[in-house]
Amino acid sequence: MSLFVKIPLCVSACALFISCAGPSGPSATPSSVGRDVYGHRPGPKGFKTVIIDAGHGGKDPGAVSRHTHQREKDLALDTAKRIAGELRGDFKVILMRGDDTFIDLDERVDRANKHGGAILVSMHYNSGPSPIRGPETYYWRVDSHGLAVRCQQAMAQVSPVEVGNRGLVRRRIRLTRNPEIPCVLLEGGYLSNPAEARLAGDAGYRQKLANAIAGAIRTQARIGDAGTGPLPRPINAPPSRPTDAPE
Ligand SMILES: [Zn+2]
Repeated sequence: MSLFVKIPLCVSACALFISCAGPSGPSATPSSVGRDVYGHRPGPKGFKTVIIDAGHGGKDPGAVSRHTHQREKDLALDTAKRIAGELRGDFKVILMRGDDTFIDLDERVDRANKHGGAILVSMHYNSGPSPIRGPETYYWRVDSHGLAVRCQQAMAQVSPVEVGNRGLVRRRIRLTRNPEIPCVLLEGGYLSNPAEARLAGDAGYRQKLANAIAGAIRTQARIGDAGTGPLPRPINAPPSRPTDAPE
């Protein structure tokens, strides 16, 4: 399997813009809700604020499907708004962008870090070789593992094919390493796969995905990491930078 297959276009493009954000060193706060530089702690429970980030935007279209000609930035924004709509009323919901605006990744991290008791969910769609399909979830922090498991399971249940579950990927990129709050990056499917591009282009399917993701967030808030398996090992890696080689 080529490096290209292992590092889908969407995420590798994000990684190119990686740079330092915030101080390094372990936080003195053991709580599972609140800011923590490394996130070496169980996942959050009882959080009241959810930040939904729609990937790309403005001058950065993200992936563009050659099958449907739809742009990742538009589908991500639409899905993010649907997730926000599902959660409003029960959570304080913050949309990182509500329109077709470019926001640098470091700026997204800075904005997320202003909300100490929040979680961050970044919504994307993927691109790679044509046969590859299925949702995928990126995380890095220990305190983001349970949320990642829940979001991936939820998206896989919506995805109509058994091979459509790409699973979890632990990768140190700017939106998984640098926020000081639990954070996951969701890939709702491959715009490079003709069948999945058509699905992603369907508003009803995006609503199903949004409902599933919102449900995963609600469950995490209610019971924390319960039932999501053992925590991954802590890694004391520095913040992700644009000059880092792909991992
Ligand atoms: Zn993306």
